[in-house]
Amino acid sequence: MDESTQISRRATLAKLGGLLAGAVAVGGLKTADSSSATEEEASGAGPAGVESGAVTCVLAPEQTEGPYYLDDASVRRNVTEGKAGVPLVLRLSVVSASTCKPIKGAAVEIWHCDAGGVYSGTSVQGTQDERFLRGVQRTDAKGLALFRTIYPGWYQGRTVHIHVMVHLGGNVVHTGQLYFPDAVTDAVYKRGPYASRPNRDPRNGSDSIYRNGGKRSTLKLVKSGSGYVGSIAMGVMRS
Ligand code: FE
Repeated sequence: MDESTQISRRATLAKLGGLLAGAVAVGGLKTADSSSATEEEASGAGPAGVESGAVTCVLAPEQTEGPYYLDDASVRRNVTEGKAGVPLVLRLSVVSASTCKPIKGAAVEIWHCDAGGVYSGTSVQGTQDERFLRGVQRTDAKGLALFRTIYPGWYQGRTVHIHVMVHLGGNVVHTGQLYFPDAVTDAVYKRGPYASRPNRDPRNGSDSIYRNGGKRSTLKLVKSGSGYVGSIAMGVMRS
């Protein structure tokens, strides 16, 4: 379970194959990336804009995908499958790191552990046939992908996080992790079912992966009903 030693990027084609199979299964989503570099250039932004300092966008930090990535995620907004936990809506937007403009049609993939720190799809935890808390959404014209999930639990050695991968035009353009402010996690973890597993360890500040850019991939959380809405913009480079 040591994610810090798992830095491999698997074959992009294999991943895409699985992803596209999922997309076709739910109704044949288009796989073409709908915007293009020429649009960026025509708008006067693009690399020239970055060089001139007119555009400054933050590249989302690359972080390990860890040991629990699966290439067969379903295209679905609600990934909870009835798992208990504090409701969490994710508003994940994808923007070009060179122009800051939204990227439409990117496939955003998330996966995370349940309130008890367990991942689906792993024989280590006896969940090999399950797929809870995993899914893919395509960004809309505003670059936005929405998910309904629950606040993740934690497991030994890692601070609370959600894994994310962004595919664009057949390539993986971002592999990262999303984090939560410690104060919010403290409040959430006082509630059930999280409260039965006290003394989470580590917190953000002492997590070896968070240390490499985690602050820049920390969700902005706003209370909503009994849960939260978490938002972040991920700047990516087209590859
Ligand atoms: Fe993880």
